[in-house]
Amino acid sequence: MENFEELRRLMVQTQIIPRGISDKKVIDTMLKVPREKFIDEKFYNDAYGDHPLPIGESQTISQPFMVALMTEHMKLTGSEKVLEIGTGSGYQTAILAELSKEVYSVERISVLYEKTKSILSELGYKNIFLFNDDGSQGLKKHAPYDRIIVTAAADKIPQPLIDQLTEGGRIVIPVGERFSQDLTVADKIKGSLKIHNYGGCVFVPLVGKHGMS
Ligand code: SAM
Repeated sequence: MENFEELRRLMVQTQIIPRGISDKKVIDTMLKVPREKFIDEKFYNDAYGDHPLPIGESQTISQPFMVALMTEHMKLTGSEKVLEIGTGSGYQTAILAELSKEVYSVERISVLYEKTKSILSELGYKNIFLFNDDGSQGLKKHAPYDRIIVTAAADKIPQPLIDQLTEGGRIVIPVGERFSQDLTVADKIKGSLKIHNYGGCVFVPLVGKHGMS
């Protein structure tokens, strides 16, 4: 059996810190959350590899560095209500739950939703609330949110997500074309978005009513 704790330490030392992640709370969380629990046993020897891995249904668990980078951009202090679109494996969800007050996460594929629900409950997270729905429409029932993260690519920031963000809130989302996007961070200030781009990334498309056309 692999020494996962040691592999986590190596991941942080070789993939996360050298690429510029410096928020200690994000680093400590990457050292803590067991990525192997979110993947199939057949990928165990690659659990902390520097790349995404398949999670079934043609979807992926994101590259560890991308998870750390998006989390750092979320600027969480511990008191936030977070909306995540694209639960996938639940790994990013768990990282967010460690750093915020509560996480509402939406996954459109029911097989992944069911599987992830049981993994996160086995791990004992009480501040994660999962939903099986089209997250491109947000999650109006529990809005507004202090932070929103989308882990699938859109061609523009979906309007319902902008509407469901609090004043002063922040959204982190890959925006662009099918195979090439910019990691986009937008702050809602006096009702408008102040947008910054943080370089290229490639995510599976956000599907749904306000998803990629
Ligand atoms: N952060 C996840 C992780 O670490 O496992 C990776 C998520 S994967 C790259 C993107 C996920 O977004 C997939 O599970 C996909 O089914 C989901 N997705 C795509 N469109 C969606 C939508 N409209 N609503 C909810 N989930 C969606």
